[in-house]
Amino acid sequence: MKAVIVPGKKQGYRLEEVPDPKPNKDEVIIRVNRAALCYRDLLQLEGYYPRMKYPVILGHEVVGTIEEIGENVKGFKEGDKVISLLYAPDGTCKYCKIGEEAYCHSRLGYSEELDGFFAEKAKLKVTSLVKVDSNVPDEGAVLVPCVTGMIYRGLRRANLQEGETVLVTGASGGVGIHAIQVAKALGAKVIGVTTSEEKVSIIKKFADYVIVGAKFSEEAKKIDDINVVIDTVGTPTIEESLKSLWMGGRLLQIGNVDPSQIYQLRLGYIILKDIKIIGHATATKKDAEGVLKLTASGKITPVIAGTVSLDEIDKGFEMLKDKKKVGKVLVKP
Ligand SMILES: [Zn+2]
Ligand SMILES: [Zn+2]
Repeated sequence: MKAVIVPGKKQGYRLEEVPDPKPNKDEVIIRVNRAALCYRDLLQLEGYYPRMKYPVILGHEVVGTIEEIGENVKGFKEGDKVISLLYAPDGTCKYCKIGEEAYCHSRLGYSEELDGFFAEKAKLKVTSLVKVDSNVPDEGAVLVPCVTGMIYRGLRRANLQEGETVLVTGASGGVGIHAIQVAKALGAKVIGVTTSEEKVSIIKKFADYVIVGAKFSEEAKKIDDINVVIDTVGTPTIEESLKSLWMGGRLLQIGNVDPSQIYQLRLGYIILKDIKIIGHATATKKDAEGVLKLTASGKITPVIAGTVSLDEIDKGFEMLKDKKKVGKVLVKP
């Protein structure tokens, strides 16, 4: 099969013909319906993910159809549509037992210790599988593990209440445009922040208000008390994100566009305003199932910047880096 391989640290990627994967006892083989490109892929190529084993197949977001199952696999059969968490938990530890498998010590990451999904087929451990109803389109399902399910988990951890106001930075990005929709689906009033005037119309389709500019906190506070900020950018926006929050506010820090940058936190902001900072990067099965229901009910519209084949993966990465694009870039092998 064709696959996008990362041969070694900071060595880029290449499209190669590799042997088809075979399932071990507790694994399934899926045909990849859709994979999704993610800013994390670029960080992985830059060497920021120390757990990567090489060579490894790149890509960590997938929806597929089961083609083959290992002998110990229960609860899944050939023909089932599934997504995978970003990691395979062991399924047996104290965290896994209470449904917080994101904290599993023995979890293995796809596109890190395990091969990822920019390929025609992929091998998945049964502990990472989540079944997808056939009425959920592939474009909506592929967004769950790293985008919508991840946001859902963050808002759950932030204890978002209906009627609260949520501000989303990087609102036209692949994460931002869907974060707006998840927050809306959970009953929030949503403000989208962007630095580009031409993105306003698309953001307005989903958000109640749009603010344009890098200094957004003053304008945001005039709209309403901001209860939750979903910061999908990182060091360029965190200062304004914190300033935006009213007392008791929660900052969901998701973006980290430039990991080489350091932010110096003024403790007064969080102490005097009772602010909670929630660092956050993934979803559990419970989150995935919750957001799949919202997706199936039509409350989340996938915003797709474009879809490329494996042969066009270079073009996919160009689209990912293109500041003019809105939404996620998908791979259809
Ligand atoms: Zn991702
Ligand atoms: Zn575990």
